[in-house]
Amino acid sequence: MAQSEGVFKRRRARLVEQIRSKGISDERVLEAIGRVPRELFIDGALQHRAYEDYALPIGLRQTISQPSTVAFQTMLLESEPGDSILEIGTGSGYQAAILCEMGVRLFSIERHKLLHVRAKSLLNHLNYRALLRVGDGSLGWSSLAPFDGIVVTAGAMEIPSVLLSQLREPNDNQRGGRLVVPVGDRHGQTMTRVTRTGAESYDTEQHGKYIFVPLVSDTPSST
Ligand code: SAH
Repeated sequence: MAQSEGVFKRRRARLVEQIRSKGISDERVLEAIGRVPRELFIDGALQHRAYEDYALPIGLRQTISQPSTVAFQTMLLESEPGDSILEIGTGSGYQAAILCEMGVRLFSIERHKLLHVRAKSLLNHLNYRALLRVGDGSLGWSSLAPFDGIVVTAGAMEIPSVLLSQLREPNDNQRGGRLVVPVGDRHGQTMTRVTRTGAESYDTEQHGKYIFVPLVSDTPSST
């Protein structure tokens, strides 16, 4: 192992304990954070900060989310191995890698081609299997719906109703799908989890304040 790899590994183990102390109790999520080399998702000059619990720039005015926030969103999804999960906002691909470590079938949409290409090649290199595409994620991915979980990693002005319709309806064997989305304006958003409880019914919970880059919709509204 190269010397720097050993350093990163120790820092990663410390970060896991830091995230645990911030109230993330899901051991599977903590294990995933402990396995993904976050330094590889960050530009060379900032790599030494990869294991600080901060969001960092990844170009095009976008950021890789703060590790404890990635952990929290992943925990709220309550995914099981084999679940079908959609991520909106691939960005660096870090959250996607964490979800792959959770054993889900992962689909992810990014509006910036450059970020998409970079994330795709890195995830491939690290042997994570995920289906990624460029597009406006606020429309979801209807041909692959329904999803057991949808996680939006950018701040939405309101809960995107199209995404609600792409959540799995509960049945005798399966719980309803969960949408995890930060909702608010650019000054701050409330982490919101919506669980589908029936054909037309949903439960909504709020889980604290966060600041994300905005969810940008490029698609003109049809109304
Ligand atoms: N999950 C990412 C976080 C990236 S920041 C990571 O782990 O690194 C949020 C990302 O959402 C940015 O890359 C931004 O370009 C993207 N984004 C914003 N609006 C979008 C939209 N409507 N559709 C798809 N991606 C979007």
